[in-house]
Amino acid sequence: MFRTSEYQQYCREEFESGRSSIYAKRPRESAHAGLAFDVPIGLQTQNVISIFAKHGFIRAELKNNDLVHFEWVNWQSMSRQEQAYAN
Ligand SMILES: [Zn+2]
Repeated sequence: MFRTSEYQQYCREEFESGRSSIYAKRPRESAHAGLAFDVPIGLQTQNVISIFAKHGFIRAELKNNDLVHFEWVNWQSMSRQEQAYAN
């Protein structure tokens, strides 16, 4: 789901405090404002993963053990201005 910056901040605070085990970046560092969504692991069949990949959405936060997170593949290479515009 896409998130407002207020909700992203809430998710970050929940993660930082340990109340949530789901990794969350700070609002301006997150693609969730428009170019990312989370999918429960149980729904991530190979077919679903390849359809997302075909449309440019990949699991980009595996290094942070964020297994539910899909984001647009070019998010990281966008400038801050482009990222803000996408929000
Ligand atoms: Zn996510």
